[in-house]
Amino acid sequence: MPSPPAHFALKKETLTRHEEISPGVFVIGFQRKQGFLSGQAIKLGIDGEQPPRIYSICSGVDDNELCVLFNVKPDGFLTPKLAALKPGDPVYASAPYGTFLGTDQPAWWIATGTGIAPFHGMLRSGMGKNKVLVHGARHLNEFCFADEFTAALGASYHRCCSAENAPAVFSGRVTGFPAQQDALPQDQRYYICGQAGMAVETRDLLIGKGIPFENIVTEIYF
Ligand SMILES: Cc1cc2nc3c(=O)[nH]c(=O)nc-3n(C[C@H](O)[C@H](O)[C@H](O)COP(=O)(O)OP(=O)(O)OC[C@H]3O[C@@H](n4cnc5c(N)ncnc54)[C@H](O)[C@@H]3O)c2cc1C
Repeated sequence: MPSPPAHFALKKETLTRHEEISPGVFVIGFQRKQGFLSGQAIKLGIDGEQPPRIYSICSGVDDNELCVLFNVKPDGFLTPKLAALKPGDPVYASAPYGTFLGTDQPAWWIATGTGIAPFHGMLRSGMGKNKVLVHGARHLNEFCFADEFTAALGASYHRCCSAENAPAVFSGRVTGFPAQQDALPQDQRYYICGQAGMAVETRDLLIGKGIPFENIVTEIYF
């Protein structure tokens, strides 16, 4: 069997951050020792042997810490273990990798749940100008980093809440917001990040609205 690429090798790191930012949702991180491209991910594990999982980097490229955002899957293998860690504990991380890369060009960012992570990293990397962010969540307390996005993007930040209503929040799923727009810019990129069902549904909607396939960039969390 061929060896995995060298950048997948896991190195021991020491947690410098372990914060529960909303119930069951955590930001954890360690000191950044190398550069990365905004939008990339790392493999993360609790030791060098058991299977790691992949997490988008939610830090900016100049931040001192390299952080990820995750929610606990109670029946999952890794996330309950990550949630039980504390600062000073070891984690095992790969080098950053991936091709879901942000740019300074005008674009739409579309995310649900922890799929907001790479866009937070892009925002912190200075890419928020000329961006429209459509952010979906079931409940109002699940909009991670909403304060930062509101401050930076203002009226270009659209929250879509499927299970609760609030002023200035679109009532419905994340696909509902682009669906009700009369016209979407055809010459911009549309970045989609989240679970497979949401990503496919959003991609199909955009194609139905005339967005060229090559302008749609997806990162699917499986
Ligand atoms: C490119 C990429 C980037 C990602 N970035 C992020 C991120 O930034 N944040 C984030 O939170 N997640 C991210 N993910 C998802 C992440 O890698 C993990 O899949 C997630 O955290 C769950 O890990 P876990 O080990 O706790 O759960 P897992 O053990 O992988 O299980 C996940 C779910 O599947 C169920 N399950 C497990 N095995 C089976 C089975 N045999 N049959 C049926 N159901 C089963 C479990 O009950 C659980 O609910 C990303 C994934 C990819 C591919």
